[in-house]
Amino acid sequence: MFNLIDLLFLPKNTCYCCKEEETNDYICHDCIKTLEKVEDFKTIEGSTCYSPYLYAGHIETMLKAYKFKEQKYYGKLFAKLLADFYISKNLDYDILVPLPLSREKYLKRGFNQCELICDFMSKRISVPVNKEILFKVKDTKDQHLLSKSERSRNLNSAFEARTIEELLNKKILIVDDLLTSGYTLQEAIVTLKKAGYKNIDAMVIGKAKPESIFKSGR
Ligand SMILES: [Zn+2]
Repeated sequence: MFNLIDLLFLPKNTCYCCKEEETNDYICHDCIKTLEKVEDFKTIEGSTCYSPYLYAGHIETMLKAYKFKEQKYYGKLFAKLLADFYISKNLDYDILVPLPLSREKYLKRGFNQCELICDFMSKRISVPVNKEILFKVKDTKDQHLLSKSERSRNLNSAFEARTIEELLNKKILIVDDLLTSGYTLQEAIVTLKKAGYKNIDAMVIGKAKPESIFKSGR
């Protein structure tokens, strides 16, 4: 579990982005205006992958600090951004599924960045989080370190899904942090579909620009 002290060391009414302006919801009006929005959503295996923002500028800086410098409080800000997007698009899902990490990656990072976002998002949109149907069973190499032919092979059988009969017809929204090539989400979606789940879409915070696709890591 995450440590509450890690999450709360920024003053409650400070913008987490500029750390200067006051705000009542984690990001100030000036900062939110700087985030570049994306409207063309990728379709992966017939599933829509919503990506509200471009992986650039403040989104890129904050996401890196969140994942690699353990600045977990950003999880609250990202959850706010995704929940606001969810509500603005009138989306309607039954379950949020955080993209899982392998056990090795989890131990190394100390937390699953997608789980934390889902937990905060769930409180805002009242959709439960499910961490029991999708698992990462292979500790794959970072995609950006591999050649094009190695990338899809790397993710082969990386995930496993558990079939829970009463959930098979539920509308599932997988939540990930970053969309690069889409191979990872594709693998996760295919794995869930093979296990019998029928309605699956995905949402990420940032969509990488084509030129930065394989430089971002996970
Ligand atoms: Zn700000």
